[in-house]
Amino acid sequence: MNILTFNCGSSSIKYQLFRRETGEALVKGIAEKIGTSESYLNHEKQGKKHRQDVALPDYYSAIEMIVRLLTDPQWGAVRDKTEIAAIGHRVVHGGEEFTVSVLIDAHVLQRIQYYAKLAPLHNPPAYNGIKAARKLFPGVPQVAVFDTAFHQGMPEEAFLYGLPYDLYRKYCIRRYGFHGTSHRYVAEAAAKALKKPLRSLKLITCHLGNGCSISAVKHGRSVDTSMGFTPLEGLMMGTRSGDVDPALISYLMEREKRSVQEVMEVLNRKSGLFGVSGISNDMRDLLARAEKGHKRARLAIDMFIYRVKKYIGAYLAVLNGVDAVVLTAGIGENTPLIKSRLQQELSNVLGKRVKILTLHTDEERLIAEDTYAVIKARR
Ligand code: ADP
Repeated sequence: MNILTFNCGSSSIKYQLFRRETGEALVKGIAEKIGTSESYLNHEKQGKKHRQDVALPDYYSAIEMIVRLLTDPQWGAVRDKTEIAAIGHRVVHGGEEFTVSVLIDAHVLQRIQYYAKLAPLHNPPAYNGIKAARKLFPGVPQVAVFDTAFHQGMPEEAFLYGLPYDLYRKYCIRRYGFHGTSHRYVAEAAAKALKKPLRSLKLITCHLGNGCSISAVKHGRSVDTSMGFTPLEGLMMGTRSGDVDPALISYLMEREKRSVQEVMEVLNRKSGLFGVSGISNDMRDLLARAEKGHKRARLAIDMFIYRVKKYIGAYLAVLNGVDAVVLTAGIGENTPLIKSRLQQELSNVLGKRVKILTLHTDEERLIAEDTYAVIKARR
């Protein structure tokens, strides 16, 4: 059985085709710059890469093109699209409503659109991608896998902000958390690596990619996480500030005579590793430049690690101890410096060696597994 996954961004669609029986990822790729004159597709089959420059005016044409590649004699993996049994979609926001992955029907689709009010940049592309996929794959079951779902078990004391309670009731303002699929995937992978049941473990999972978040995972459930109402809160990230004093927003608006949108743009796109270093949001660049003595590249890296450590400290208290800390995603998987620094500094604090695992995250795979589980339960 073949399961296709889609991850629709504001101008891109990532896709991957899995063979369930073997767990093999048959082909994968990304359609980029959808809706511009420079759109193209990067496709990959068994390590071999193929780029296709092609007009992709919208999600429908992008998915149509993806289907063409999936069924291509040279680059594809299936003869025709009827060999695709189910489709899983990454959806960022499921509000308080979706605590697990669900089969998409007209109602679910409408709710995904509804939660665009909480994720205006993320849910609309998922909604459009699902609509296009439903048109192109009539009758094929499609499943929504939500980034927020894993964190829905957080206790009230962790997810509420110290704001008037009415704001929660009126506007659903609370901590939702994101990257849930990744945190869940690596938590399960950690249990396998430790050869212990997940329900017996206390884990701190650190997803350090372009976006960064950290979760306290107790017995397989997220009990706290660093991203909040939006993915801006928490750790310092590539271009996002993470935690700041909210009062600085109005201060900056006044001092710099900027609109609230402009200040938010600074916090979202001009801050973090990029803003502090003044050179790059990419950890690879910063490591290379710091090596050569670039002071602010070094400072940005130090601040990044300091924040991670500070949150780990907080979650050690939340969990009352930890069996392992997990590092994952682009930065987490590829920066030995972070692991060695955390290893040393946390061991100093705790007076014993903390187990730190570096594990590869694979959100697409979990989306495919969830998709299968949902359609199997339906049968
Ligand atoms: P996303 O969150 O968008 O999925 P990734 O998990 O791919 O992103 O992480 C991307 C980031 O990972 C890059 O911006 C870069 O900073 C970092 N990265 C990737 N490879 C390396 C590497 N070899 N060494 C250090 N950092 C890396």
